[in-house]
Amino acid sequence: MRKDHILRKTALFLCLFTLFFIISSCKRVELPELPQESSGPEVSGTDVFSYEEIPPYLIYPYTEVNGGRPFFDAEDIPEPGIYLSDMDSLGRAGQAMCVIGKEDMPTEERGEIGMVKPSGWRISRYDFIDGTYLYNRCHLLGYQLTGLNAEEENLITGTRYMNVHGMLPFENDIAYCLRYSDMHVCYRVTPVYVKEEPVARGVLMEAMSVEDKGKSLLLCVFCYNVQPGVSIEYGDGSNEERETSYELDMTDKEYHQKNCKKIISVPDEQKQLFSGDTDMLRKNGFAPCRDCIPEG
Ligand SMILES: [Zn+2]
Repeated sequence: MRKDHILRKTALFLCLFTLFFIISSCKRVELPELPQESSGPEVSGTDVFSYEEIPPYLIYPYTEVNGGRPFFDAEDIPEPGIYLSDMDSLGRAGQAMCVIGKEDMPTEERGEIGMVKPSGWRISRYDFIDGTYLYNRCHLLGYQLTGLNAEEENLITGTRYMNVHGMLPFENDIAYCLRYSDMHVCYRVTPVYVKEEPVARGVLMEAMSVEDKGKSLLLCVFCYNVQPGVSIEYGDGSNEERETSYELDMTDKEYHQKNCKKIISVPDEQKQLFSGDTDMLRKNGFAPCRDCIPEG
């Protein structure tokens, strides 16, 4: 199931990658290594990932990285357990890793986490966001997989969009693999910060099923910490609504003005806000609506 999904998207992302690699002007950042004093294992390979190779966000909540293969090898996988990095000197959560089986998945309801204030945290609301809150306290290692809840080392300031549309579907894939096999999964999530910014630009998610060395589950994606229709200042978490934005019909591949009657009747899960250059939409196969004439 996972592989079909990845395959379908791969061709598209390769095109996007090539296109945006050229115009990408993002800064190079070093991925944090697990600190020496951490109880976690030394993990190799993360330094080969570079944020500047990630195409800028356009339409889709994530992009495949390294051909969908984690940067760690099957031989690097440590003993089952949960390995969280210490907070860095700027109070930011770092890389989180776990090797888990279905026995580690929680059976109780999740508890309260409202007392944790991840770096860059602030309350911002927009009526066009599901649940209205721009930022969620976003688990690096999901509660449904690990039972981790209010550990500050495992929480970052993440957009609703990254949480629900970026990370959750992959967490669900991992949960599925755990639930319906007797395998363990090695799962690593790395928040990616630029310089001293408190709000991550996104997270690198890597996973591999352990006993079959990735035959059942292999994953390496970058999820963007963005919210369609909102412009975010990663240096302090401040944000504002983008002025020009369109509504996309992701199934029919049309773009519309926000108040178009045709898009209003489209189910929520099929539509998405987009801000930016409509040339990019056309290059990615989206056509302007004939009713509302979005650029008219
Ligand atoms: Zn329209």
